[in-house]
Amino acid sequence: MSTAPRTILHADLDAFFAAVEQRDRPELRGKPVVVGGAAGRGVVAAASYEARVYGIHSAMPSFEARRRCPHAIFVAGDMAKYRCESRRVFAIFDRYSPLVEGLSMDEAFLDLTGTARLLGDAVSAAERLRAEVRAATGLTLSVGIAPVKMVAKIASDLAKPDGLRVVAPDEVRAFLAPLPVGRIWGVGAVARARLDALGIATIGDLAAAPDEMLRRALGGFGVGLAGLARGEDARAVEPDREAKSYGEENTFERDVAERAALADPIHAHADAIARRLRRDRLAGHGVTVKLKLARPLGRGRYPLVTRSLLLRRATDDGEAIARAALSLLARVEPWEPIRLVGVAVTRLEPNDASQLALALRGPTDQRRARLNAAVDAIHVRFGDQKLRRGAGDVRRTGLSTGIKRGERE
Ligand SMILES: [Mg+2]
Repeated sequence: MSTAPRTILHADLDAFFAAVEQRDRPELRGKPVVVGGAAGRGVVAAASYEARVYGIHSAMPSFEARRRCPHAIFVAGDMAKYRCESRRVFAIFDRYSPLVEGLSMDEAFLDLTGTARLLGDAVSAAERLRAEVRAATGLTLSVGIAPVKMVAKIASDLAKPDGLRVVAPDEVRAFLAPLPVGRIWGVGAVARARLDALGIATIGDLAAAPDEMLRRALGGFGVGLAGLARGEDARAVEPDREAKSYGEENTFERDVAERAALADPIHAHADAIARRLRRDRLAGHGVTVKLKLARPLGRGRYPLVTRSLLLRRATDDGEAIARAALSLLARVEPWEPIRLVGVAVTRLEPNDASQLALALRGPTDQRRARLNAAVDAIHVRFGDQKLRRGAGDVRRTGLSTGIKRGERE
């Protein structure tokens, strides 16, 4: 890894869904607008800045939003329209860097390292980017520029709305020091409470804390946090196009003759893929099942059978992926004994679950999304072992090499 400072830009549209509605409906401008939760039982997908004054934020139950601001205007929201705007904005991002990593529909990292000669200095490139997005879409974009991802993201957040904030390499420590530790990625309520008990409130406190103390309180995770607090964040910008699909597969120790015996491994693969998708805030339209038949072709080769389908709506839900995979499996004829089964999800797109999945979908989907979030939380705490499905003890033999997206850290 190179040690020369990088130039990372974090770009984030301001109050995206609400801003699109205010753009298209002039009567909403200057008013507290809440997107999603119009039926009264959902959650807020997005709130205009006028609504945020009342403490309304995304993922808040809509009854609570209504209580805080009875005259707020609730708008149902239009995902097709937001997707279209998102594509236009990402097309502009792509002109500024070959390395664009989408975090959600309205947010991305751009690695501008080494593009200075091409684009002028990073600050003027960022100003042109902001102007171009506004001219093309009428939406405002806030930008943070820093040598590492985490700092760039915090900087864009502090610049909002419609702002630009630059943190030079030698300013990182001073920039981070006064901020609350909760600003650091991965610091949730539990870690915050433990740090609080140690008298650590700000990122500066954390940066100065002895490793031994952090290790005792939070294990290796605590030491890693202190590194982030000092602005040591080596994570690179990872372009989305590197991950065209997320897959899992396993080779059986003994060939499997019964079609029904593949249900458990398929469920396990689907759950693992779904977890990685949610971690990366992605969802996929395509589902593929891959089978390696047990009949040898010679020289260690076996016939491969693949079947694919497209879902009407992109998903990050293990149950939906498993159902699609099993329907594909049912279509495989003639049936032969199997030595390997794999599942993959393709046609990936950013999926800001907190914003869109919850607010703009029905109660069943909302229940599943909450369940998935709970499963993800357990998985983060205990790792893979605790979540194995019943008797479906899938041995991950001959699995993908290297680090998978969504399973880092
Ligand atoms: Mg945003």
